Amino acid sequence: MSSEKDIMAANVKTSIIILSDTHGMALDRKIPNQVADVCIHAGDLTEASKLEEFRSAVTLLRGIDAPLKLVIAGNHDFTLDTASFQSKIRQIKPPLEPDLVKKFYGDYEEARQLLVDAKEHGIHLLNEGTHDFVLHNGARLRVYASPYTPSLGGDWGFQYHPGQGHDFAIKDGTNIVVTHGPPRGVLDRTHTRDRAGCPDLFAAVARAKPQIHCFGHIHEGWGAKLVAWRRKLSENPSFLADIDNSESVLVEQLSTLHESQFDTPQDAASKNEKLEKHTAQKYCSASYPENDVGSKTLFVNASVKGDSETDLHLPWIVHMMLPRGSDTVTRADGSMGQHATDRTRVANAISCSDSGPDTEAMTATQAGEKCLEADHTGMDTQCKLRKQTGRKRALEVEQTALQKRRFCDAK
Ligand SMILES: [Zn+2]
Repeated sequence: MSSEKDIMAANVKTSIIILSDTHGMALDRKIPNQVADVCIHAGDLTEASKLEEFRSAVTLLRGIDAPLKLVIAGNHDFTLDTASFQSKIRQIKPPLEPDLVKKFYGDYEEARQLLVDAKEHGIHLLNEGTHDFVLHNGARLRVYASPYTPSLGGDWGFQYHPGQGHDFAIKDGTNIVVTHGPPRGVLDRTHTRDRAGCPDLFAAVARAKPQIHCFGHIHEGWGAKLVAWRRKLSENPSFLADIDNSESVLVEQLSTLHESQFDTPQDAASKNEKLEKHTAQKYCSASYPENDVGSKTLFVNASVKGDSETDLHLPWIVHMMLPRGSDTVTRADGSMGQHATDRTRVANAISCSDSGPDTEAMTATQAGEKCLEADHTGMDTQCKLRKQTGRKRALEVEQTALQKRRFCDAK
């Protein structure tokens, strides 16, 4: 977690535990016991979308030591996609007994409600769109989330036909993109060596150039790669034309940790040593270089499940710097200063799962923050006044956002 010195800096050190595709597994004693600022789960919380599996996923997330846990759905979590769930039930012949459906899957929206109720444990289920947060450590985080994956058939949740594509509307200033599926060309190879990622997603990420893009879905594509972008992007960016391979670095993938028949004895020994070390600490780690914002993206495929329940891949812990999001309220001992309540309210005000960020709240918050930063450098009366006005305005906007969210929740 952040030290007092970090808190005074313009950017804030932030650690993120990333995992995906846990498929209802309890993962007892197999998750990192590190403390992080944020935890991200990139979908496939369950194998068959049963209520029991969602409960198990919530237990798993509660066992991770991070104050904010961001979760998206995956194709396996089809009961979170009510239209798909209804169509799946309709297609079953002969029709299933409604009581039986209810027993395993719950009523329509029940699984979603279970996750919404988990907000009291810091768990936020993100719908497709942009979400802004001010973190416990004072950093501002903008996330774009999408559970949608391409599929030629089947009736899983949140899918589109690859021929029709999908619009991934990633906004400027997005720090982290969280999708269930990989982009075409990066950590997306299947066992048959096919590339299963989505080209539309690759193009959207290349244009937005977030610091991190994390995902899962293609379990065997597990790994991390720091990708350098070409200075001038193609009109329709693709992995073939727009990645500068000479400046890109593969952090790790399954083949760099597991020995193969082609390895020399020395290579095999060094892989085994590396794997043993990572397994003992229960994670692999990567850092996003602070000076590479806008020129590189760290891609992370965090699929935990491998080919079976016993073949597990390690979660990731990623370290990055994020811009300060508010005045200094988190002390080195982790306690909250006097503005903590304001900041928490603002964080709530600018996060509305169904509509993306509230632009008015953001503007008011930023106006307030500009002056709030002056706390550390000594502040003149005019700035003090602007600071009070900014905070008052942010609180007013919070009221409006809360009403809006009630509307979102009711939808
Ligand atoms: Zn999966």
